[in-house]
Amino acid sequence: QRKPNLEYLARIGATGGKIPLGLKRKGLRVVVTGGAGFVGSHLVDRLMERGDTVIVVDNFFTGRKENVMHHFGNPNFEMIRHDVVEPILLEVDQIYHLACPASPVHYKFNPTNVVGTLNMLGLAKRVGARFLLTSTSEVYGDPLQHPQVETYWGNVNPIGVRSCYDEGKRTAETLTMDYHRGANVEVRIARIFNTYGPRMCIDDGRVVSNFVAQALRKEPLTVYGDGKQTRSFQYVSDLVEGLMRLMEGEHVGPFNLGNPGEFTMLELAKVVQETIDPNANIEFRPNTEDDPHKRKPDITKAKELLGWEPKVSLRQGLPLMVKDFRQRVFGDQKEGSS
Ligand code: NAD
Ligand code: UDP
Ligand code: UDP
Repeated sequence: QRKPNLEYLARIGATGGKIPLGLKRKGLRVVVTGGAGFVGSHLVDRLMERGDTVIVVDNFFTGRKENVMHHFGNPNFEMIRHDVVEPILLEVDQIYHLACPASPVHYKFNPTNVVGTLNMLGLAKRVGARFLLTSTSEVYGDPLQHPQVETYWGNVNPIGVRSCYDEGKRTAETLTMDYHRGANVEVRIARIFNTYGPRMCIDDGRVVSNFVAQALRKEPLTVYGDGKQTRSFQYVSDLVEGLMRLMEGEHVGPFNLGNPGEFTMLELAKVVQETIDPNANIEFRPNTEDDPHKRKPDITKAKELLGWEPKVSLRQGLPLMVKDFRQRVFGDQKEGSS
């Protein structure tokens, strides 16, 4: 059994009576895999703000240098172009493992979820770092329980078109718990529900980014199926707060991190119309295979044990994302005109 690492606990400022008082929190060395991506780059901003030393490991599969470029030149920031499917040696205190092709159009391509997670767990084991896995609500599949509680085991098709994502994340959770139980690695598991915000990939096919880009480009909003399927949309700053509380806290999880506000895709289209263009048309398209009918997090556990809940509603968060998308869709020509 590994003894609690007092120096580590002191560094992260953990309390609970075990920490010698007077030991002050120092900056941590933190790796963020996938840190050039949408969620990762917002997390990096918060960690940098806190005074940590941040190493981003990213292969730019869907991430962009632009998302973290504002930290270039800061001695506390490092960016490594690396595919986590390959081993890597680093000396760090915490690992936020986000690297993953996260949208249906991208995630069919590689085994990041399994091999990448294994490597990052191997790294955590070697250096005694705390490891946080960003899992997903997709582990619940097309859920037969609503809303979804962490104790629900899910309803997932192991051979479907989405399997490499949802089964990949389920395997990643299994590996994480195996390293926790078998090698005493300190781990945390977040199950993230649909998240949106500035820096989201514009063309990766997710519904919020699709609708916003379509409305801005005066194209019809593409609603798949009958549009009655539901999702719960979380603003990215709420998610980042939840991830950091989870990492710093004492509970392994898994924890659902999501906004319980539930919308049908038609309702979402309506909010996008209200926010961007009331005259935007809606066009129905055939739905994808194995599309979950509904999804909504039960966040009781995160509320109780992490003291966390989302603060930003869809109607508050969407305009913040639209501002960023407007600049990226139209480039300089319209910048400042909104
Ligand atoms: P994203 O695509 O913007 O970010 C993923 C990042 O990982 C990108 O920068 C990409 O270049 C990088 N990456 C992918 N494969 C890699 C590899 N093999 N090696 C190194 N880097 C690699 O997606 P995101 O929305 O920011 O997602 C971040 C994490 O959160 C993912 O693990 C995702 O599964 C999880 N998640 C996100 C959502 C959501 O709604 N955004 C929901 C559930 C779970
Ligand atoms: N690994 C890594 N960086 C490290 C330590 C390990 O990338 O600092 C990789 C290692 O190459 C291996 C995986 O993590 O592929 C799992 O490592 P572990 O030590 O748990 O397994 P083993 O190497 O004993 O099979
Ligand atoms: N969707 C849609 N129009 C789009 C893109 C997606 O109606 O242009 C639907 C999709 O069928 C699904 C929901 O929106 O029911 C959420 O899809 P997304 O890919 O954003 O997330 P996930 O399915 O992973 O929750």
